[in-house]
Amino acid sequence: MTGSKYLVQHDGKSLMVDCGLFQGYKQLRLRNWTPLPILPNHVNAVVLTHAHLDHSGYLPLLVREGFHGKVWCTPGTRDLCGILLPDSGHIQEEDAAFANRHGFSKHHPALPLYTQEDARDSLKQLRTVPAHHLFEPIHGWQARLHGAGHILGASSLYLEVGGKRLLFSGDLGRSDDLIMLPPDPPPAADAVFVESTYGNREHPGDNLVDELAGPLERIAARGGTAVVPVFAVGRAQALLHAIAVLKQQGRIPTSLPVYLDSPMAIHSTELFAQHLGEHRLNAAQCRDMAHAATMTRTPDESKAIALQHGPKVILAASGMATGGRVLHHLVQYLGDHRNMVILTGFQASGTRGATLANGGTQLRIHGQDIAVRAEVLQLHSASAHADARQVMNWLRAIPGQPHRAFVIHGEQEAADTLRQRIENELRWHAMVPEHGSTWAV
Ligand SMILES: [Zn+2]
Repeated sequence: MTGSKYLVQHDGKSLMVDCGLFQGYKQLRLRNWTPLPILPNHVNAVVLTHAHLDHSGYLPLLVREGFHGKVWCTPGTRDLCGILLPDSGHIQEEDAAFANRHGFSKHHPALPLYTQEDARDSLKQLRTVPAHHLFEPIHGWQARLHGAGHILGASSLYLEVGGKRLLFSGDLGRSDDLIMLPPDPPPAADAVFVESTYGNREHPGDNLVDELAGPLERIAARGGTAVVPVFAVGRAQALLHAIAVLKQQGRIPTSLPVYLDSPMAIHSTELFAQHLGEHRLNAAQCRDMAHAATMTRTPDESKAIALQHGPKVILAASGMATGGRVLHHLVQYLGDHRNMVILTGFQASGTRGATLANGGTQLRIHGQDIAVRAEVLQLHSASAHADARQVMNWLRAIPGQPHRAFVIHGEQEAADTLRQRIENELRWHAMVPEHGSTWAV
């Protein structure tokens, strides 16, 4: 889970598929500091399936350490990387500065993994290619990106090299997503690399609008504050759209104040109008979504939200409460039972989001233990990932019979459950590769 990086090698050339950061447990995050098993200047090209940091967030480091090839992706992914990567550099710099102020780090001074400037430099190597167009990331290697739903620009990668056809699912969206289109039907392949975030789970049948209605009515009625940790890209927009619909239908008061407290989420929301046709919303719905909340851009505007009395809803990043403005809101509102925390997607083990989802009664934020008295809910229909049934349907739609499936990008139990289903129901060879292992396909 997280830190997605796959190296495809043939005839002395190397292509990296995704270039992600490890997130979550400290043990996992420390992997970001370990040198790669290949020198960055020996990588010939990179293809990004999508812009989430666990798939793109290592790119600034790869470039700074000597990678000078092209990074192929869709226009949507390029636009989102332009928002996400510099922000990630900014967070790395802030974390290092914080560690230096408080003497947390064994290293003096603590250095950022990379800076905002490194991130901006790496963006110059992005090259866009529309979905369904053949391109050659390396001379003689045929590649094509197919829509994967999930978030704007997200794709699966089809790669043909040395007579083999490889298919990387990327992160697959759900077929019934509120705002994103379903994943495209997959092409034929010899080997498939399939994500398994929800490999052992199925989403309940509710839709996001209905699931959100009850909790927001309760918050409005009891005068509390709902803090909603959101993934700035993707889920923030789905929630805004759902809130706009609920207000239009009169199911929640139109006067209920809603804040989108994340400059990144605000930018991503604006991008939806520039990528019509790549999601389910029309121009009018994009406008309504953008007007569904008060956008707070500056830190002062963010702090001023706390001065607002009465019921309100605050959407703020990050989605697993690992950092960002949502932490200040959690400190402010967790201690009162009238308030609510609404978790909106997958919560990786080791994150504050997972602690809350598992009923934790205390949360450590900024070196302080905060008592959890607020009601905590997890919305299952807010996930941006296909569930196990939808992943199996996607796999079943691959024409012919891939001779091998590699089950990747999931926590161990989820990956192993999906592996068993593939073996039992599809009768393909399936395996969960170890971190750092090498296979001939
Ligand atoms: Zn993703």
